Amino acid sequence: MPNESNFDEIYDFLNTKFESEKEYLQAVREVLEDIVPIYNANEAYKQADIVRRLCLPERVIYFTVSWVNSEGTVEVNQAWRVQHNGVMGPYKGGLRFHPTVNLSVLKFLAFEQCFKNALTGLPMGGGKGGSDFNPKGRSDRDIMLFCQAFMRELQRHIGANTDIPAGDINVGAREIGYLYGEYRRLNNKFEGVLTGKGLEFGGSYIRTEATGFGLIYFTEAVCDANDTTLEGKRVVVSGAGNVALHAAKKAIQKGATVVTLSNSRGFLFCDKGFSESDIAWAIDAHTTSSNVLTDLESKGSGVWFSDKTPWHVKCDIALPCATQNELHEKDAKALLENGCSMVLEGANMPCSNNAQEVFIDSGITYVPGKASNAGGVALSGLEMSQNAQFSQHEADVLDNELQSIMKSIHARCLEEAKRSAGKDNYINYMKGANIAAFRRIADAMVAQGV
Ligand code: NDP
Repeated sequence: MPNESNFDEIYDFLNTKFESEKEYLQAVREVLEDIVPIYNANEAYKQADIVRRLCLPERVIYFTVSWVNSEGTVEVNQAWRVQHNGVMGPYKGGLRFHPTVNLSVLKFLAFEQCFKNALTGLPMGGGKGGSDFNPKGRSDRDIMLFCQAFMRELQRHIGANTDIPAGDINVGAREIGYLYGEYRRLNNKFEGVLTGKGLEFGGSYIRTEATGFGLIYFTEAVCDANDTTLEGKRVVVSGAGNVALHAAKKAIQKGATVVTLSNSRGFLFCDKGFSESDIAWAIDAHTTSSNVLTDLESKGSGVWFSDKTPWHVKCDIALPCATQNELHEKDAKALLENGCSMVLEGANMPCSNNAQEVFIDSGITYVPGKASNAGGVALSGLEMSQNAQFSQHEADVLDNELQSIMKSIHARCLEEAKRSAGKDNYINYMKGANIAAFRRIADAMVAQGV
C-alpha cells in the first residue's frame, strides 16, 4: 500500500521514538514542513516510503574512547559516527570534539549534512561524528593521545570510498593531522580518508578558508539578486573560529564593515569595523590563544562585552557563525528593530525555529546553513577528487571553483523558492534549499530501490 504520509504522521512517529533528541527533531521538523507536500504529490516517492527512510540514519556507530593521558591517568570519553545517508556518494561530514556532543546533536548535523552535500552537486552522502572530549586547555600531547585513541576505533568504519570525515568545532588542521597519522599507521595506506589535511600530505588549498569565504560568496549572490552589493554594508558576525574569521576576512575584502565577533564568553564590538590586519592576526592566533577576542581588545581593536551576544548591534547583515541555537526569537526581533535585512547562517542551525519564523514572517532574507555554509564540504569534495588523482590544484583555481559552486547552490535554491512562492512572492531560501536537496536525494533513493 502506498504510504499516504503527511507531516504530522511522520513527525509523530519520530517524536515518539526519539523524544529526548531535541536537536535532531528540530532539524527534521524544519525540513519536513517543506518537503512533505512534494512527497505527497509524487507516487514514486510514496511507494518507496522516501521521507521516513530519509529521516532515519542508515547506521549509527557508538564507541568508547578509553585513553591514557600524558600524566598517566585513564580517561574515558563517548564517541559516535552517524552515517546518515549514502545514496549520493560516500558518507561525508565533520568530526566535532566538544562537551556538548551527544547523539542528538550528531544526528541533527548528519541529517543536515545530507541536504547540504546534495546541494553542492558533488557525489557525497551525509554523515557526522565526534566525541564529548573537551580539548580546551589540554596540552598538545593530550590532544594527540586522544586523537590516536579515537582513530584506533573509528578507522574500521571509514575509508576513502566509504566514509570520509573532516573537521568541525575544535577539530582543525592539527587534530586532522594526528587522526590521519594514526589511520595511516594502522592501515598502511596513504589515501584520502579525511579532508582538511595539511598541504604537505594530501590537503587542498582553500579548504581552511572555504566555509567562511563560501558564505560571503553566497551573500554576494543574494545581494546581486536584490540589485545591491556588499560594499558599505554593516555586518554582525558571531563566533571567532574558522568559519567566523574567514567570513569576516572575505566580507572586509568585499568592502563590508564587520562590527562584531564573539565566542562563548562574550562579544567584541568595533564600531568603525575590524581591519583586514586585525582579522589576519586573529586567524593566526585563534588556535593557540585562550581568548583571541580579549587579546584583540588589548591591541586596541574594539570593546569587549562579557556574557553578551552581538544580536542587538545595528547592522544590515547578520552572519551567525558560532554554533547551533545561538540566536533565539528575542535576538531575531532585536536584529529586525536594528535594521537587519539579511541573515545568512555560517554555523549549522544557529537560529532556533522561532527565530527563523520571525525572519521569514517579517519578509527579510533568511538563508539556512545547509545552503550558505556548504562551501566547506564543497572544497572537501574537491580535496577528495584531488586525492583520487594524486594531484594538488592551485589556490586560485579552487577559489574560482568555490565561487561557481556557491553561485550554483544559490541558483538552485532561488529557482525552487520562486517555484514555491506564495502570493507575496517572498523568496524563502529555506524552502528552496530543502526542496532542491530533497528532490536530488529522493530521486537517487528511488533509482537505487529499497
Ligand atoms: P571553531 O571551533 O573554529 O569555532 C567555533 C566558535 O564558536 C568559537 O569562537 C567558539 O567560542 C564559538 N562558540 C562555541 N560554542 C558557543 C556558544 N555556545 N556560544 C557562543 N559562541 C560559541 O568551529 P568552526 O568555525 O569550524 O565551526 C563553527 C560552526 O560552523 C559550527 O556550527 C560548525 O558545525 C559549522 N560549520 C563548520 C564548517 C567548517 O568547515 N569548519 C563547515 C560547515 C559548518 P569558544 O572558543 O569560546 O568556545
